[in-house]
Parts: sequence; structure tokens; C-alpha cells
Amino acid sequence: GPPLLSVHNLHTYFPQEEGTVKAVDGVSFDLYPGRTLGIVGESGCGKSMTARSILRIVDRPGRIVAGEIRFRRRKQLDANSDDMRAVRGAEIALVFQEPMSSFSPVHTIGNQIVEAILLHQKVSKRQARARAIEVFRDVGIPLPEQRLDAYAHQLSGGLRQRAMIAMALVCNPSLLIADEPTTALDVTTQAQILDLLRHLQQEYGMAIMLITHDLGVIAEMADDVVVMYLGRVVEHAPVDELFHAPKHPYTQALLRSIPHIRSRPRERLASVAGSVPHPYNRPTGCPFHPRCPHAIEVCRTQAPTWEEVAPQHFARCHRAHELQLIGVEEVARTT
Ligand code: SF4
Ligand code: MG
Repeated sequence: GPPLLSVHNLHTYFPQEEGTVKAVDGVSFDLYPGRTLGIVGESGCGKSMTARSILRIVDRPGRIVAGEIRFRRRKQLDANSDDMRAVRGAEIALVFQEPMSSFSPVHTIGNQIVEAILLHQKVSKRQARARAIEVFRDVGIPLPEQRLDAYAHQLSGGLRQRAMIAMALVCNPSLLIADEPTTALDVTTQAQILDLLRHLQQEYGMAIMLITHDLGVIAEMADDVVVMYLGRVVEHAPVDELFHAPKHPYTQALLRSIPHIRSRPRERLASVAGSVPHPYNRPTGCPFHPRCPHAIEVCRTQAPTWEEVAPQHFARCHRAHELQLIGVEEVARTT
């Protein structure tokens, strides 16, 4: 079937006195109904800004300067803001890292959720309250009626995150955008929230766009993965393919930087060498070249193009074919 969400050549720029920050610089991907697309990269790679652009909540002076966003095949980028607000609340929901900021401190969580329901659905206040209780049960909040009458600060971090997910679900969205949904939580709570998202995805049949810097989360949750670096997608592949046969040196470095999932359970390896360049000083050619162990002359001058390097597997690297043919470690030794 057709994609639920289609992002094509999206550019979101931030003009500053020192120069223009190209936070999102030509991002394209499709997300299919009921699937989970992981978006991964170091902080500052543009993954959150891609989500904010899709939702049309880019803060000034940031601006979407080019691109096309389609939701259910309808063009969104030109949609007027009322249209977009309706889609945003009812069909596309957002959860993010810090649930405190998504709830007002002066209203009970229940009142805020009831308001959200009334905004999008023609139901009575009583029905909205019943729906809120039902969703609180769905997300595993014990004593839902009491919790609805609490204020955000009265709940634990884990319960607050569940309440935010509940708020996102009340209108049965077909797409949930989750931006670092478990980053602020302890390991146990993190695992519970990921389980919950998986379970809710099956129950509600929604697609999830999962933004994270954590490849462990990606491995557990994603069907397909987009890897971003400096505002661009550098690799896109089904999750197993990405973990077993990464083609882009940046993805390979990211994979090496996480504790090894299969073979060496407790070993924490070095992080990606070098640091992300300052956004005003984007390197020429391939933006990853200053950090890339496989960089050759052409990498410094020419931007690599987007190529299908295996079925359903795309990468943006001059040497992707070569690296996959003779093996990464060997190429490192010969250059
Ligand atoms: Fe490395 Fe060159 Fe590939 Fe960029 S294009 S990732 S610098 S090998
Ligand atoms: Mg972010």
C-alpha cells in the first residue's frame, strides 16, 4: 500500500548572524502504516527538527525553506494552519523526552486530557472522562481515576511518561512521533515504556516514528532505520540489514560505539571518533570526511550521492560499494 507519511527533500534552515544553520538539509523517507521507522544520529543531526518540521512546530527564526510532506497522500506543507492543527492533534501525536513540559502545572492531568479529547471529538465531558480512564488503563497506570485528578508533579517520571503517552493516544492517532521517549528514564522504566509502545502499536495499529540517539532502542523497536548526520540522511535500511551489513562509515562507527548487543554483552566501546563539526562550518564534500577512517581525496571535494547499495538499502558514501565488497576492516588497512 501507499506510505502513511511521505517526506521529500525537506529543508529547514535557521538564519543566524554568523551564517545559516541547515538543520534539515534535504531529508526524504517514507513511513508505512503500522510500521516503526527509527531515526538515529548524534545530538544536533537534525532528527528532532525533522519531526518538528513535519508537525509544523519549528521555532523562529527557523523556517522550512523547501520540501514536500504528504500525510495520507495529502500535501501538508501548503495546508493552512487550521488544517494542520487538526491533523496534528487527531492523526499525528507527539511524545517526547520531558513529560513535565507537556502538562500544565496548574491543571490536573485529567482535565488536560479531557480538554484534548473535547478539542478533537464530538463527545460529552462525561464520555471524554470515560475515554481518559480507558486510555490510562491501556497505558498501565494503576488507579486511573485517582491519577487523572493528580497534577503532573505528583506522579513519578515513569507514570508521567505513561500519562503523556495516554494523552497522545486519546484520539487514536495513526502516527505517533516519539522523540527520545525513554532517554530521561532509568533502565527498568525505559524497558517498560518500550514494551508499552510495542503493545500499543499492535492494539491501536499506529505507525511510529521513533527518534533516538540509542541504537539499542532502535534494535528493539524499529522495522526500518534512517541514520542522520548533519541534517542529511546518510543511510536507510531495514533494521536487520543495517545491523548486520551497515554500509556507511558513520553507521559503522555508531554501531562500534554501542555496547555489543550480541557477542560481547558488557563491553562498552569507544564513541565515534572526533566531534560533530560546528553547524556554521559544514565540511565540504562529504560532511563526514573529517571523522571518516576511509576518507579519500574525492570525499573532501564532492558530496556523495544517494545510492541503492543493496535491495531496500540506501547509503550516501563514495565508497559504499567498495567497502561492502572487501570488508570494512580490510579497507581501513589498505588506506
Ligand atoms: Fe567516508 Fe568518503 Fe564515504 Fe564520506 S564519502 S563516508 S568521507 S568514505
Ligand atoms: Mg533532539
